[in-house]
Amino acid sequence: MGLKNCPECGRLFVENASGLCPACYEQVEADEIKVVDYLRNARKATLQEIHDITGVKENIIMRMLRRGRLLSDFAVSYPCETCGELITEGRLCSRCSKGFTDQIKKPAEPAWNVSDRKESQKTHERMYSNKNR
Ligand SMILES: [Zn+2]
Ligand SMILES: [Zn+2]
Repeated sequence: MGLKNCPECGRLFVENASGLCPACYEQVEADEIKVVDYLRNARKATLQEIHDITGVKENIIMRMLRRGRLLSDFAVSYPCETCGELITEGRLCSRCSKGFTDQIKKPAEPAWNVSDRKESQKTHERMYSNKNR
C-alpha cells in the first residue's frame, strides 16, 4: 500500500480500503449515520431532501446509494444521470435506459387508432418472439 492523495481533502495518506484519509473516513462514517438515522424516520426521501436536512454532501449520499447495501430498506429517489428525472434504482430512468429505441419511436397515435395498433403490435410481438427463440 502506497501513499495517496485523499479525494476529499487532498492530504496525503496511507492507502486503505475506504480510499479516504482517516479524518475524512471518520467524517464520512458520521455522515452515513446521519443519513441512515434520517431515513429510519422518513423511510422515503429524495437525494435533495436528505442533503437539505442532514447537510451531508450529495456525493456521499450517492456513494451510499451506489453501494446499495445501506439503503436497500428505504425508498430514496435521486436524479437520472441523463435527464434529471427522479429514480430509485440504477443510474438512468427507464426512459433514458431504453435510450435508442425510444428516440426512434413514433409520436403517439390518436386514441381511436389505439386498439387497432394494439392488435398489430401483438402480431408483431408474436412474429418477433418466434424469431428470437
Ligand atoms: Zn481527507
Ligand atoms: Zn432520464
